[in-house]
Amino acid sequence: MTKPLTDRMDRPLRDLRISLTDRCNFRCSYCMPKALFGANHAFMPRAELLSFEEITRLARIFSTLGVRKLRLTGGEPLIRRDIDALVGMLAEVPGIEDISLTTNASLLTREKARALKAAGLNRITVSLDGIDDPTFRAMNDVNFPVARVLEGIDHAEQAGLAPIKINMVVQRGVNDHDIVAMAGHFRGSPHIVRFIEYMDVGNSNGWRLDQVVPSAEVVERIHEQWPLEAVEPNYRGEVAERYRYADGSGEIGMISSVTQPFCGDCSRARLSAEGKLFTCLFASSGHEVRDRLRAGESDEALQQYLAGIWSRRADRYSELRTHDTKPIDSRKIEMSYIGG
Ligand code: SAM
Ligand code: SF4
Ligand code: SF4
Repeated sequence: MTKPLTDRMDRPLRDLRISLTDRCNFRCSYCMPKALFGANHAFMPRAELLSFEEITRLARIFSTLGVRKLRLTGGEPLIRRDIDALVGMLAEVPGIEDISLTTNASLLTREKARALKAAGLNRITVSLDGIDDPTFRAMNDVNFPVARVLEGIDHAEQAGLAPIKINMVVQRGVNDHDIVAMAGHFRGSPHIVRFIEYMDVGNSNGWRLDQVVPSAEVVERIHEQWPLEAVEPNYRGEVAERYRYADGSGEIGMISSVTQPFCGDCSRARLSAEGKLFTCLFASSGHEVRDRLRAGESDEALQQYLAGIWSRRADRYSELRTHDTKPIDSRKIEMSYIGG
């Protein structure tokens, strides 16, 4: 048996996050602030985006390198028309065991949720930064109501995509007053709220360490209201720490990218909508893949090229940043471009 592909820190390549577009109908202030993503912002022209055929071909090649899980993201991935057709194509790729989607759920109609499930989508993660309507409307900065995201979550549940993961990025002074209410809203449901430490992704959000609410504090605040117990991880490298309510009312998760970085187990690569490969969320540049594809390179040549990139990888930004407790000064790629 040939040795599985690993990077310089002995980490395998298991997950591929695919950004389908850099566009979004929200303007979350920490991700696509209006000042930078206004009416005149130049988004990628359509011809620059990877086609569904190109994405599927790359997924097939990545699968030969060890990738088992695919996550579709963006920008807002549901903006990409016929995304269920892409899911159907990816579901046919040998070796792929899990296909998931991260979305703001604003466009998740009943029909869309059903079509995605029927095409082979396994799981869905919905981003929802507050359950308090005015707080959420201010955070998405397009006045989008909580109730419509909750409808999207219901549609996903009815389509058979439950349990749904619900991601809340917590920012001190912005939505941390809503932590307990958020937990309370989904307590007793099959869904799992995951509280995410606000990260210094990109250059446009003006991140400061004092805006981060450490997961330990989030756990404490919820535990005071409803006692919690820690739960063993589902598998090695699971990014969320799991907790369950002692009274059996379900589970929550903490993603502590700032206070407890998990670079040691990071098996993710990210493909941008225009076909550049990034080996870390905090990378300042990507590796060109689309142009090689369009220049007619063979699957074997592409496979070797991608394997070479992964085998040279030594990224561990979050661990280095945590030692310094401040963002490392480099030009980083924006979250709306790379997709989280
Ligand atoms: N538009 C989709 C959505 O919001 O779910 C998918 C793309 S969005 C960039 C993916 C995730 O990244 C969202 O859950 C968002 O909250 C998260 N995110 C964006 N900027 C972040 C930051 N600075 N720190 C932590 N999470 C962030
Ligand atoms: Fe859009 Fe998602 Fe970024 Fe919010 S976090 S602006 S929904 S891409
Ligand atoms: Fe992976 Fe980079 Fe995040 Fe570390 S900082 S967990 S290497 S993406």
